[in-house]
Amino acid sequence: MTSIPPTLHENPWFTHTVRIADLIDETEGVATYHLVVIDGNSSSTYEFVPGQFNMLYLPGVGECAISMSGDPARKDGWIHTVRVAGNVTKTLARLERGDTLGLRGPFGTGWPVAELVGNDVLIVAGGLGMAPLRPLVYHLMNHREQFGKIWLILGARTSEGLLYPTEYAAWQKRDIEVTLTVDRSTAGWNGHVGVVTQLIDRLQLPRPERTHLVTCGPEVMMKYAAMSGLRLGIDTRRIWVSMERNMQCAAGLCGHCQLGPEFICKDGPVLRYDRIRPYLFVEQL
Ligand SMILES: Cc1cc2nc3c(=O)[nH]c(=O)nc-3n(C[C@H](O)[C@H](O)[C@H](O)COP(=O)(O)OP(=O)(O)OC[C@H]3O[C@@H](n4cnc5c(N)ncnc54)[C@H](O)[C@@H]3O)c2cc1C
Repeated sequence: MTSIPPTLHENPWFTHTVRIADLIDETEGVATYHLVVIDGNSSSTYEFVPGQFNMLYLPGVGECAISMSGDPARKDGWIHTVRVAGNVTKTLARLERGDTLGLRGPFGTGWPVAELVGNDVLIVAGGLGMAPLRPLVYHLMNHREQFGKIWLILGARTSEGLLYPTEYAAWQKRDIEVTLTVDRSTAGWNGHVGVVTQLIDRLQLPRPERTHLVTCGPEVMMKYAAMSGLRLGIDTRRIWVSMERNMQCAAGLCGHCQLGPEFICKDGPVLRYDRIRPYLFVEQL
């Protein structure tokens, strides 16, 4: 069990009004929003555990779960990276700096930052899965001396889908070994081509018994990443996945996000692999 308790707002329905203070276009259909609470409610301290999420609310359209993607040490707003998928995210994409929306949270469990202390960390991200992992990267960098070796393997369909490319040099400077791979090579790409698991399989872990694997991305990628981790000798209790399910209440009440006995909104999204594994391999759950 992750030792990190969910840090739910005392009233899960409380919706802050936030203003888009800044927005950055990342890749095709993906943008990062800097949201600042403007309703004067002092309960928003912008505190969260890497891996947690907020519900973004577009009045008259709906709500959707979006992970924090910013530095947890930063206290000047909520940072979210959003890909256009359906109604809510399409409407959000039409907003501009200065526009307002609703936000409630934070919700869910986070990456097990306390359990990672003193250990090596293998981070495996696929596509937009890098967004909920970026706060963890920042956390590891902010407390670099507390952790052993850190690898980040990041994959995307093409190089244009690799999120936050301008930051990789800074991550590497903080002794994080960043390896990139793409499914399909496009003009100008001369790095790895292939799935992330091929790169995991090539790793020589100096101390697998002291290594944690944390992964976020398409479910099939996480399944195979976990299997590769197990082959390298990482214990099933040291593998962590972030699950995605359709969410409505985000507070463990409505059951929309239930997977087996787990409510992904409150027992997850970050779950230890041994806990979620039986349900990951059941099709159409
Ligand atoms: C914990 C968590 C964290 C997340 N973090 C992020 C994040 O950081 N960034 C991000 O961009 N996304 C994130 N997501 C995903 C995001 O919540 C979804 O993409 C969300 O559904 C978008 O809402 P929407 O209204 O725009 O799209 P929706 O209308 O919900 O549509 C989403 C997709 O599902 C399809 N769809 C919708 N309804 C149906 C249906 N009835 N049958 C079949 N297909 C359907 C749509 O065509 C579309 O492709 C996260 C999800 C979870 C659970």
